[in-house]
Amino acid sequence: MASAPNTILSELGFRFDPNNLYQQTATQVLAAAELLDLPTFLQLILAQPKNELMVHFPVRMDSGSYKLFKGYRVQHNNLLGPYKGGMRFHPSVSLDDVKSLSLLMTMKCALVRLPLGGGKGGVQVDPRQLSKGEMMRLTRRFTSALGDNIGPDYDIPAPDVGTNAEIMGWMADTYMNITGRAQRSYGNAVVTGKPLAFGGSEGREKATGQGLVFVLEVMLPAMHIDPAKMTYSVIGYGNVGSWTARLLKERGSKLTAVLDHTGAILNHSGMDADELAAYVQQNGGVKGYADAEAIDTDTFYKHEVDVMIPAALEQMIDESRGSQINCKVLAEGANAPCTPLADRMLEQRGVQVLPAILCNAGGVTVSYFEWKQNRQAERWSAQKVDDELRRLMHAAADRVTDLAKEKKCDMRAAAYCSALQYLDEVYEIRGVFP
Ligand code: NAD
Repeated sequence: MASAPNTILSELGFRFDPNNLYQQTATQVLAAAELLDLPTFLQLILAQPKNELMVHFPVRMDSGSYKLFKGYRVQHNNLLGPYKGGMRFHPSVSLDDVKSLSLLMTMKCALVRLPLGGGKGGVQVDPRQLSKGEMMRLTRRFTSALGDNIGPDYDIPAPDVGTNAEIMGWMADTYMNITGRAQRSYGNAVVTGKPLAFGGSEGREKATGQGLVFVLEVMLPAMHIDPAKMTYSVIGYGNVGSWTARLLKERGSKLTAVLDHTGAILNHSGMDADELAAYVQQNGGVKGYADAEAIDTDTFYKHEVDVMIPAALEQMIDESRGSQINCKVLAEGANAPCTPLADRMLEQRGVQVLPAILCNAGGVTVSYFEWKQNRQAERWSAQKVDDELRRLMHAAADRVTDLAKEKKCDMRAAAYCSALQYLDEVYEIRGVFP
C-alpha cells in the first residue's frame, strides 16, 4: 500500500486510496522523481495519462444473442515516440489498472531507451468463456471501436494477459481494412506480437522470458548466485513464466515449484520446464502434472529457492505473502506483482527485488524490433533479434545497477530514476508547448 498521500497526486485531486494500483505506481515513480529533484511540471505531466479512452461495444455470441463489452485504451505519454503497450483480455480489467500499466510502459520504454511512449488497453472479458468465433468478433469490433485512436505512427498495441499472436493478427487486419491502410505500406505495423507469416518477428513469443534471462545474466553473478546451480519457483506458467523457465532450463537452473490459477506443484528434484509447458498447453494449468506433488498456496510461498519469479498478475504479493517468501532474489516477470508494503517487507528481510520495468522489458523491446522490421520491410534472423535484445537488456541492467550504487537506493527506485533522467533530458530539449 502507498503509506501516505503524494502531494502531486493530492494537487491533481486524487482521493488517497492506499489499495489503488494506479496511486501505488504513481507514488513510487514520483518518489524517484523527488530523489532526482525533477521539476514539478514534469512530475505533474507524468502523474496523469495524456488520454484515457473507454468504449462499449456489442458482440454477437454463438447463441445468437448479443453481449455488450467494455474496453479501454490509455495513452500515458508519447514524448519519446508513439504510444506502445499490450491489450489485456481479462474479467478484472479496470481503468485504474490499465492506467497503472500504461505508466509502467512509459517508464519501461524510457529505461531501455526505446523511441516509444507508454500505453495499455484491454477488454473486461473472460477469454476462456468465448469460442474462437466469438473471440474474433470481439477483437474486430473492439478494434473498430478504437478506430484511429491506434495506428502505426500513433499507438501500437501488443499481446498481454489473455491475448496472443492470433488476436494481434485479427486486430491488425481489422485496422488495415477500416482505415484504408490495407492499400498502403506497413499498415500491419499498427500491432506487434503478430504471427510470423503476417509480419511478426522471430523471437517475439519468447521475448519477455528471454529478456528476463538476460537481466539475470547480469544481476545474479553480482549476488553470488550461479544460474547453473540455482533453484527457482514461478508464479504463472503462461507466456512469461513458461518461456523464462524453458530458457533457464538451457542454463541448468532447477525449477522446483510453480503456482498458477489452477493450483500449486512442487518437486524438490526439479521439473522439466518444456514438458510442463506442453502439459499446461493441453490441460489449461499446472494442476494434475504427474511429475510433481500438489501443494497448497502457503507451502508454495514458503518453499525455499534462490530466485522467485512472479509472472502472473498484479498485486499478488501483499504483506502477508511477503512475510512468507523464502528466496534471495525476486525477479518481477509480471507487472507490479508486489504491493509497496510487500516491497518494504522484502527489503527488510534482505530479499533483492529486481523490478518489472527492467525484468519484463524484453517483450516491448522485441515488439520495437518487429515494428521496425515492418516499417523497413525487413526480416531479421532469430540470431539478430537475440543479439540486439541481449545488448539492450544488458545496457539497461547496467544502468540500473550503476544508479542504485550512485543514489544508494533499491533497484526499483534506480530503474525509475534512469527512465526519468532520460524523459527529463528530452523535456529539457523540447520544452512544454506553447
Ligand atoms: P498469460 O495469460 O500467458 O499467463 C498468465 C498466467 O498467470 C497464467 O499461467 C495463469 O494461470 C496465471 N494466473 C492468473 N491468475 C492467477 C492467480 N490468481 N494465481 C496464480 N496464477 C495466476 O500472461 P503473460 O503474457 O505471461 O503475462 C504475465 C504477466 O507478465 C502480466 O503481468 C503481464 O502484464 C506481464 N507481461 C507480459 C508480457 C508479454 O510479452 N506477454 C510482457 C511484459 C509484461
